[in-house]
Parts: sequence; C-alpha cells; structure tokens
Amino acid sequence: MEDLKQYIRAVPDFPKPGINFYDITTLLQDPVGFKAAIDRMEEFARSKGAEKIISIESRGFIFGAVLADRLGIGVTMARKPGKLPYKTISEKYDLEYGSATLELHTDAVRPGERVVIVDDLIATGGTLRAVCNMVEKLGGRVAGISAVIDLSFLPWREKLQAYDVDYLVSFDSE
Ligand code: AMP
Repeated sequence: MEDLKQYIRAVPDFPKPGINFYDITTLLQDPVGFKAAIDRMEEFARSKGAEKIISIESRGFIFGAVLADRLGIGVTMARKPGKLPYKTISEKYDLEYGSATLELHTDAVRPGERVVIVDDLIATGGTLRAVCNMVEKLGGRVAGISAVIDLSFLPWREKLQAYDVDYLVSFDSE
C-alpha cells in the first residue's frame, strides 16, 4: 500500500505562529499519491454503501468530487455562510478561538440517504461534527466520515465517537 505520508508537506507557523499546517497540495500535485488517496477513500465509501458524498469547503471539495465520480453517486457541498443560493440549514461550531458556521442546502440530503462526509483533515472534529448534525437534521444517515489526515494528538474521537471514521495518514505530535 502506498505510504501517503511522504506526499503531505508540514508547514510550520502557518497561518499563525505555533500551528503546523498539513498541506495536501503536494499530494494533489502527484498523480500517484492522489490516485492512491482516492483509491483508499473509494474502498471505504463503497464498504459503507455511500449513496451521496458531502464535501466540506474548500479542500474537501476536491477529494469529494473525484470520489463521487468514482462511485457513480452525487456530491453536495457544505459551504461557508452566504455562498449557497437556495434554502439552507446551518450549524455553528466552536473553533480553538471563536466559532464558525457551515451551511447545506435543505435538499442536499434525502430522508434515509446514506451519506459519506469528506474533508482533508480532522483536527478537533468540530467541523465534521457540525456537518453530521446537519445531515441528521435533514433526515439523512451518516454512513461514514472519510479524511486524508488525522491529527491523532487532538481529541476528535470523543466528538465523533458515534461515527465510523476513516483516515489515510496520522500525525501524532504538534
Ligand atoms: P477541526 O474542525 O478542528 O477538526 O478542523 C478541521 C478543518 O480545519 C479542516 O477543514 C482542515 O482543513 C482545517 N485544519 C485544521 N487544522 C489544520 C492543520 N493543522 N493543517 C491543515 N488544515 C487544518
């Protein structure tokens, strides 16, 4: 199996001092690495019987769209406030400092639909949890969560314990 860690670039002190930013642009630029990542995400999403992908703004969009095409299913976007043109549902969540909000169209998920939610990285898990909450409010089922990177030193497992979470690469220290 391809070791995907080699394709991820860690950028210290971005976007501010003390943050180690895990950059997936180096993965995307490499056709072998990108394909290996999508192959593994596909395997997981298939095993969960995904009927729809939800991708999270903005790096999640890239993985989610390719994955949906592979699976022959639809993809819908969880976006920052004010970007989606139709009726929306929104969910506010805490960040390390302050808060953020994501939105989904109210028709993004059908009742009972099995959804796999896709993002590039899980840190505190707040972003993914907010999207899970919206999917459930719309009557959908979170069949799984698929991310490229797990920051295993952060306590996201508690926040996402109700869900089946798959990731491709772990980083275990700041
Ligand atoms: P969280 O809600 O704390 O799990 O944060 C996850 C979201 O923030 C994802 O959409 C990531 O793209 C982004 N993010 C958080 N921390 C990092 C990091 N150290 N490197 C790159 N992206 C990050």
